[in-house]
Amino acid sequence: MNHKSNTITLIGAGLNGPLLAILLVQRGFAVEIYERRPDMRRVRMSAGRSINLAMSTRGIHALQQAGLWEGMRSIIIPMRGRMMHSPAGDLTFQPYGKDDREVINSISRAELNIALMNAAETRGVTIHFQQRCTGYDLKTGTIRLRHEDSGEETTVESGVVIGCDGSASAVRTEMFKLNRFNFSQQYLTYGYKELTIPAGPAGGHLLETHALHIWPRGDYMLIALPNIDGTFACILFLPFEGADSFAGLVAPQDVTRFFEDRFPDALSLMPQLTENYFANPTGAMVTIKCSPWHVEGKSLLLGDAAHAIVPFFGQGINCGFEDCTCLAALLDQHGADWPRVFANFESARKTNTDAIADMAIENFVEMRDRVADPRFLLKKKVELALQARFPQLFVPKYAMVTFHRVPYSVALARGLVQDRILAELCDSVGRLEDVDWGVAERLVRRDLTPLEHVQ
Ligand SMILES: Cc1cc2nc3c(=O)[nH]c(=O)nc-3n(C[C@H](O)[C@H](O)[C@H](O)COP(=O)(O)OP(=O)(O)OC[C@H]3O[C@@H](n4cnc5c(N)ncnc54)[C@H](O)[C@@H]3O)c2cc1C
Repeated sequence: MNHKSNTITLIGAGLNGPLLAILLVQRGFAVEIYERRPDMRRVRMSAGRSINLAMSTRGIHALQQAGLWEGMRSIIIPMRGRMMHSPAGDLTFQPYGKDDREVINSISRAELNIALMNAAETRGVTIHFQQRCTGYDLKTGTIRLRHEDSGEETTVESGVVIGCDGSASAVRTEMFKLNRFNFSQQYLTYGYKELTIPAGPAGGHLLETHALHIWPRGDYMLIALPNIDGTFACILFLPFEGADSFAGLVAPQDVTRFFEDRFPDALSLMPQLTENYFANPTGAMVTIKCSPWHVEGKSLLLGDAAHAIVPFFGQGINCGFEDCTCLAALLDQHGADWPRVFANFESARKTNTDAIADMAIENFVEMRDRVADPRFLLKKKVELALQARFPQLFVPKYAMVTFHRVPYSVALARGLVQDRILAELCDSVGRLEDVDWGVAERLVRRDLTPLEHVQ
């Protein structure tokens, strides 16, 4: 057995693990990470890991705290809005924010993971690859590990263990065995499949570069995010079962026919559609809520291990990175008083992570269906006009979540009030010009208080 009593042990070198490790090292702690996968910098990446992420203000803030954001500018592509593709191939662009500074940033998950692991190692963190945590004794702090290749079993003892091991967390499995551990998991009836639009002949993008492309089709959708190499990482979201579903697409000709019928303009850009389709797995999407996240000062869950959410608000990693900065701020405040830090961390984060979990599910309906609805597009225009007139009072929910660090629970609550205002202003009009701005001012001033920390 290895004794690492002065070392903080993290399980998982996904996205949150290495970032948290850097923030801990900055505060004088020694950190080791145990990761079940091989080192992706040395081994060819497996299918299913090429997804792009949308990085926004919360994630950027955390990367800035770690001193990493400026170095990442060369691997991101800003996306200014959604480009909707109708079945006839018509395009409608809808900006995400009030101006070109309010953008979300497309970044390859693999590139981000590699940059984070490199930075963590440079700062003295050791990452042990192919070491799967198979169990953890919460009383003694003994972690059981199995080498994924050789099968060799070892143990490590650690005073503080943080589970950054994602939605199927092994650390959480141990907590599950404790009395009064609350746990819920809810799978969507939808799955997702990664696909690719290759780069054009000159290496450029075949669709508008600075947009997140959406083919909304009511019950399902296709999306595409730009990569720096000229390709687009696409994700097809479809029900697992039913009329238009993964279950119905069994042979290459089923897939081609489905795309010819539903996404003809995308099909013309995807010469390897059927190869990609059958090579890549169909992923499931789950919301996980649990509590408590910690056992005394010994063990903590963070990121997807504590709160996995569905991807439709593009906030999973932004939320996880905000966990990391929150934990770091509590360490600055209280020092290594782990029982206090962990308890305060959960109180600060749990209502907020529950709120973004609920908003992420709501946003699925918005993305696959409502973005194609003219009434929805009118409301979006009215939202931006209200924000221009009352910048301290009315900030669209999407902006509160994506461009500000307003607590998620505040964004959820204010979003409900704002939805009622929008309904009252828009339900009887068909154009922005017809909105009654006198009524708008009365409602906004009556129902909303100034929002802190918004310029
Ligand atoms: C389709 C899709 C699209 C998404 N899009 C976005 C987006 O646009 N924006 C955004 O912010 N978020 C997005 N997310 C969410 C984001 O990917 C997750 O929130 C994020 O990866 C969570 O990071 P994590 O470090 O907590 O977990 P993970 O990234 O899952 O990392 C966990 C790590 O732990 C390792 N591990 C697991 N079990 C063990 C074990 N027993 N022993 C040792 N190691 C172990 C795993 O191998 C992995 O490396 C998306 C997710 C999906 C599925």
